[in-house]
Amino acid sequence: MFFIILGICIIGGFFLFRKSTGIVVDEKLADTFQQLLQSNVEYYQKLTDEHKAQFEKRVESFVEEIRIEGIGIEITDLDRILIASSAVIPIFGFPDWKYPNLTNVILYPDTFNNDFEFEGGSRNIMGMVGTGYMNGQMILSRQALVKGFSKNSGKENTGVHEFVHLLDKTDGATDGVPENLMAQEYVLPWLQMMHREMHRIKEGHSDINPYALTNEAEFFAVASEYFFEKPEQLQDKHPDIYEQLSRIFQQDPAAESSEA
Ligand SMILES: [Zn+2]
Repeated sequence: MFFIILGICIIGGFFLFRKSTGIVVDEKLADTFQQLLQSNVEYYQKLTDEHKAQFEKRVESFVEEIRIEGIGIEITDLDRILIASSAVIPIFGFPDWKYPNLTNVILYPDTFNNDFEFEGGSRNIMGMVGTGYMNGQMILSRQALVKGFSKNSGKENTGVHEFVHLLDKTDGATDGVPENLMAQEYVLPWLQMMHREMHRIKEGHSDINPYALTNEAEFFAVASEYFFEKPEQLQDKHPDIYEQLSRIFQQDPAAESSEA
């Protein structure tokens, strides 16, 4: 009898506290997702078949666990795919890693006013990671999200940028140094490398977006966009930064594209 009651309590507790606020992905939706990934996400297109299957699984768990809401817009499957891809790309090198500091993503049709607590400067009008009472939330502009995955986005991707901030924030500080992902001995060389490159940007000798000059957190997010969007170019022009980011993210996207 005791065990039956205990069993009921455990099952009841499971349903009561289960943190599933996203949508259910059935087989049909999984097929739709696969097609959307193949036609819209270049990072995915370049993956090996084995990695593609892993990527799909992680996209599915993301949309099952995270609530995606639209403000004045209806969320489409493409929105879900682009948001989930932005989330999965930076953490794809860590098979079991999930964002502990995210419950929902709010999508605005275009830009939004910054009457929120947020990190960083005016660029965050395209996206922001909530702090304070907005903790656990990310806000993105659909226009910026879609542009980041379009053919002519260059080295930029707002979705990836915001998720890199979120990753950076998991150690308690959005400071351009993701301590959770870096061995201690690489922290100082990484800071020095960032400062050297910031100096070159200031002098007009770098092709990295000058928004990176805002602070180390923005440098890290902007360089990461470059790393995932144009890996061969970053490796060619900034081999040391490429190597450091490759170590941080545990990924080698330039090599992955040549394998595929
Ligand atoms: Zn930023």
